[in-house]
Amino acid sequence: MQRKSLLSDAIIGAIHWLDPWTVADPGALVAAYAQSFSESGGRILQADIKSVQQVRDRWQVNTASETVEADEVVVALGPWAGSWLKELGYHFPTFVKRGYHMHYASQASAKLNFWVMDAEVGYLLAPMNAGIRLTTGAELDRLDAPADVNQLGAAEKVARSVFPLGERRDEVPWKGARPCLPDMKPVIGPAPRHPGLWLAFGHGHQGFTLGPATGHLMAEMMEGQPTSIDMAPFRADRF
Ligand SMILES: Cc1cc2nc3c(=O)[nH]c(=O)nc-3n(C[C@H](O)[C@H](O)[C@H](O)COP(=O)(O)OP(=O)(O)OC[C@H]3O[C@@H](n4cnc5c(N)ncnc54)[C@H](O)[C@@H]3O)c2cc1C
Repeated sequence: MQRKSLLSDAIIGAIHWLDPWTVADPGALVAAYAQSFSESGGRILQADIKSVQQVRDRWQVNTASETVEADEVVVALGPWAGSWLKELGYHFPTFVKRGYHMHYASQASAKLNFWVMDAEVGYLLAPMNAGIRLTTGAELDRLDAPADVNQLGAAEKVARSVFPLGERRDEVPWKGARPCLPDMKPVIGPAPRHPGLWLAFGHGHQGFTLGPATGHLMAEMMEGQPTSIDMAPFRADRF
């Protein structure tokens, strides 16, 4: 009954997915991963990487302030991976599907208890800790092109006719880029021509969900263990 009363009667049909897995605060989850990594003895260094180079049989990652050396390096640079790897002679056909989100209050006491995806218009409303999040679909543009507020504005207009959204809660929309490859599968595995260089990028629309699985598979490969799944579909030399 509650579902019926909140959503507009203009919706003539929907599929009710009973057991979705959702996260109300993705940033907090990623922060918890980072804390767990530190507590396991990992060191987190946040810096702008200037170059990654192979020096004899080791790798050097150079930042503005220091050089970190290691036997093995994982390139997990999301949408930025393709341009970095060009410097090492790899030409992956990467592209991005950009998208935006904005948080909203609810009007009066309206409460959104479940996510709603409008597949026809291409947006999703989800109850998050920060408010009701409206996330947009794919915007095809360059990674570094300026933000275009029209996609979010158009989706918001339709969303307001579906659910009583209140005022915007963020000063500016969040803009992100889904890192994609033409077969919409990531590259996970060793770089073909550089021992000690590992690649994990191109997770498209599912990178937040797939990150932990990719980390697990990467650890298995780097340790020389049998992998939990067949990694052939994700090998780098398919391009
Ligand atoms: C609108 C939108 C909605 C999405 N919704 C979902 C969803 O519901 N579920 C889901 O699973 N996925 C979703 N995704 C996809 C998900 O966000 C990506 O697949 C995921 O972030 C990719 O993770 P990554 O670690 O490979 O790359 P990123 O998260 O992009 O991380 C790459 C990192 O590299 C860093 N970097 C780049 N250059 C440098 C440099 N020179 N020096 C140092 N650091 C550098 C960047 O700062 C960044 O932190 C969505 C994406 C968008 C845009």
